[in-house]
Amino acid sequence: MLIKNKVYPDCTISAINNFGYGVCRIEGIVVFVAGAVSGDVCDIQIIKTNKTWCVGKIRALRQRSSMRQEETFCCPHGNHCGGCIYDAITYEEELRLKENDVLHALNKAGATGFEVMPVFSNHQTAAYRNKAQYPVSTDQNGNLFFGFYAPRSHRVVPAIGCHLQPPIFSDIAAWVCHTATQCKISAYDETSGKGVLRHIYLRCNADGSDISLTLIINASSLPHAHELCRVCDVFPQITCFGYSVNQTRSNVIMGKSFHLLRGKPYITDVLCGNHFHISPLSFYQVNHDMAQALYEKAAELLSDVPYHRLLDLYCGIGTIGICVAKPGAVLYGVEVIEEAVKNARENAVRNGFSNATYVCADAATLAKQKELFGAPPDAIIVDPPRSGLDPATIDAIAAHAPKAVVYISCAPDTLARDLVRFAAVGYHGDTIYPYDLFPRTGHVETVVRLVRKTPDDNSHATLGLEASF
Ligand code: SAH
Repeated sequence: MLIKNKVYPDCTISAINNFGYGVCRIEGIVVFVAGAVSGDVCDIQIIKTNKTWCVGKIRALRQRSSMRQEETFCCPHGNHCGGCIYDAITYEEELRLKENDVLHALNKAGATGFEVMPVFSNHQTAAYRNKAQYPVSTDQNGNLFFGFYAPRSHRVVPAIGCHLQPPIFSDIAAWVCHTATQCKISAYDETSGKGVLRHIYLRCNADGSDISLTLIINASSLPHAHELCRVCDVFPQITCFGYSVNQTRSNVIMGKSFHLLRGKPYITDVLCGNHFHISPLSFYQVNHDMAQALYEKAAELLSDVPYHRLLDLYCGIGTIGICVAKPGAVLYGVEVIEEAVKNARENAVRNGFSNATYVCADAATLAKQKELFGAPPDAIIVDPPRSGLDPATIDAIAAHAPKAVVYISCAPDTLARDLVRFAAVGYHGDTIYPYDLFPRTGHVETVVRLVRKTPDDNSHATLGLEASF
């Protein structure tokens, strides 16, 4: 048993896990060490003990690993929010680790027969995010400030100058905090459930010309709305300003509705040459350029599938279906957020798909309907949240017998689990393409194509696709 607070000298870090912790063994016990990198040799102080594992911190770095970048990513706050788990290592190493995460998830789930491609990236590791949701708190002087939550806590640590967002986000959030302080608007306090301003939520389009600002409040309407509306004069890029009421005592950030105060109820962005309206309540990929690359891959994976009817499950504002569908295809989409469905309907028409149908429904429930949109789809795209698909949904998708399923996932573990189920119902793939939509963080996105293979078809899955046409 290791002893709490004791410092163990000259420990060699052997790996980094997908939470960004360096891993080593001391006296046979696994120790997780924040900020440590494979190949480091360091003196480690044990700060938490457990039966089978411990947590330690670096007391002295004796030998630097070659994985460490010469200049660190330089978070102005020393990565107190814990978001940039790979900030100590080179980006090349980060990409290798992410590829390994996908491989590891497949092995763990027993998903066999897949090759994992190297992680694709455009190597833009800073200012790639088009969205930030900053919690607001009060400092010792009674001034409001914005930030991110410290890891595994609801304590707000400053985020001003975070490299992942465009610098203007910090400027706008700082203006809001300053003005709210002057107006004596209080910050929401999670412990007491009292206070008004909960989050400052910003989103911008690719060229920064359109920004939406949403204040999430614990009040029935925004106090001092007149003063706060001046933000649109100070920052003319804000073309959509409003608030969302969230009076629940939960971790959910957004309220159910958005109240527009100035401008229009959406921003506009261009993806793969298509124009999209995006309302603050709708999901939109945070990394524009990499989302485009991902959708181009999805289009390529569908290019030799002779489909006419394409179903986009978990479609958000319709981005993937609209970006990948061949001209003349009939598009269907399913999404649970009403605002996003409205966006999707208009986006389809705006981009030439006048015969698209979008429904607001739970994708799992809808997929189980026998008479899906009158006739079964020829190909299905799924892009579920991190929890992935439940087995009954996978069975229902297979029962529609699409020629191909393109699965986009933001969570390798649930993807791997779902691939095993898809294989059990006759859908197989051969190549997984990871895309780094979230540099410096622990997340990685993937896309894979699955095709139907009949039990007597012993050929490669892709040949199975050709044989079934
Ligand atoms: N394909 C879209 C959105 C993917 S994110 C894009 O690339 O932009 C996942 C989407 O699924 C979100 O829009 C979310 O609102 C939606 N969603 C979450 N749970 C759902 C459910 N049970 N049924 C339908 N849609 C759901």
